Amino acid sequence: MNNDSKLLIDKLEADGALSPAEYLFLLENRSPETAQYLFERARTVRQRIYGDEVYTRGLIEFTNYCKNDCYYCGIRKSNREAERYRLTKEQILECCAAGYDLGFRTFVLQGGEDPFYSDEKIADIVRAIKAAHPDCAVTLSFGEKDRKSYEAYFAAGADRYLLRHETADCDHYGKLHPGEMSLQRRKQCLWELKDIGYEVGCGFMVGSPYQTNECLVEDLLFIKELNPHMIGIGPFIPHGSTPFAGQAAGSLELTLFLLGILRLMLPRVLLPVTTALGTIHPAGREQGVLAGANVVMPNLSPLNVRKKYMLYDNKICTGDEAAECRRCLAGRMESVGYRLVVARGDYKAV
Ligand code: SAH
Repeated sequence: MNNDSKLLIDKLEADGALSPAEYLFLLENRSPETAQYLFERARTVRQRIYGDEVYTRGLIEFTNYCKNDCYYCGIRKSNREAERYRLTKEQILECCAAGYDLGFRTFVLQGGEDPFYSDEKIADIVRAIKAAHPDCAVTLSFGEKDRKSYEAYFAAGADRYLLRHETADCDHYGKLHPGEMSLQRRKQCLWELKDIGYEVGCGFMVGSPYQTNECLVEDLLFIKELNPHMIGIGPFIPHGSTPFAGQAAGSLELTLFLLGILRLMLPRVLLPVTTALGTIHPAGREQGVLAGANVVMPNLSPLNVRKKYMLYDNKICTGDEAAECRRCLAGRMESVGYRLVVARGDYKAV
C-alpha cells in the first residue's frame, strides 16, 4: 500500500479533516489495498458509535411530477415518456401503516418538485402521519422551497429533510442543471433547513458527467462545513430519456471509497447505502455497509407506481413487495455481520 495514503487515512481519522491537496492525493492514488485499509478504519469508527446496527427508512415516492429539468434525472419535466402519478394522502397513510407493521419507524416522503402539493397539503399529510405513528420520524425530500414553507412542515412535525447539493462546484453544477437553478440557492436551502432545526441531509452523485476529483474535493469541503446529520451519495446512472442518456455510470469502487472517507470525516453521520448502489452491483449495498454506511432505505411506495419513479434506468426492487424488500435487506445485512433494527434511528449526538 502507498504509505502516504495510509498516513493520510490515519490523519483523517484523528482530525476528521484533510487539506484540499490531501483529499485530492487520496482520491488520485486509490488502490485496492488503500481502500481496504480505509474501510477497516471506517468500520471501526462506525462500530464505536452505532455498533452493528443498521437503520431502515421506508421510502414513499409520492409524486413524480416535477417542475425542474435537471439533465440527469428521469422525472425531469421535459421527459414526455415518464408516466406521471401522484399519491393521495390516504395512499400515503396506507404505505405508512403497512410499513409500521413491518418495523419501519422512519418514513421518507420523496418526490419531484410538484406545485400540486401546497404547503397546507404537505403539513396536513405530515400531521396525519405523526398522529397515526407518534413514535416515528418523518423525513421530507422534495427539493427547494421557501424558508416559510420549510418552517410550516417543521411546525407540522417533520423531523428531517434530505436535499442533495448534487455538486459543490459551481461550474459543474451548471453542467448538470438548467440556468434557472443555482448552487447558491441549493446551499441556502440547506443552511435554512439546519437553522430551522431539521436533521439535514445533503449529498451528491458519484461519477456524474463532467465530475472531476477536484469537484469531489469541493463536495468534501462543503460537507465538512455544513456538518449535516445525513449524507446521501450514490453512483450516477444514465436514464435513456434524458440528455445524459449516453453518459457512463459512476463506479462502485469510487462510491465505496467516498463512503469510507465520509465516515472518517463525520463519524456520527447517518450514511445510507442507496438503491443506485444496489443497481450498479448486486452486492453494492452490502459492500457499502462494509465501507462505513449504516442506513438502508427500501421502497414502501405502492407496487403499481414503483416503475414510474424511474430516476435512472434498471432501478432494482421495483417489483417487490415492501415485506420482501425488508426481508431481503435484513438477510443481506446479516450476511456481512450487521443487523437491521426497529428504531427511529436518530443521529447520535455527543
Ligand atoms: N426532487 C427532490 C428529490 C430528488 S430524487 C430533490 O430535488 O431533492 C433524489 C436524488 O436522486 C437526487 O437528489 C439525485 O441526486 C438522485 N438522482 C437523480 N437522477 C439520478 C440518476 N440518473 N442517477 C443517480 N441518481 C440520480
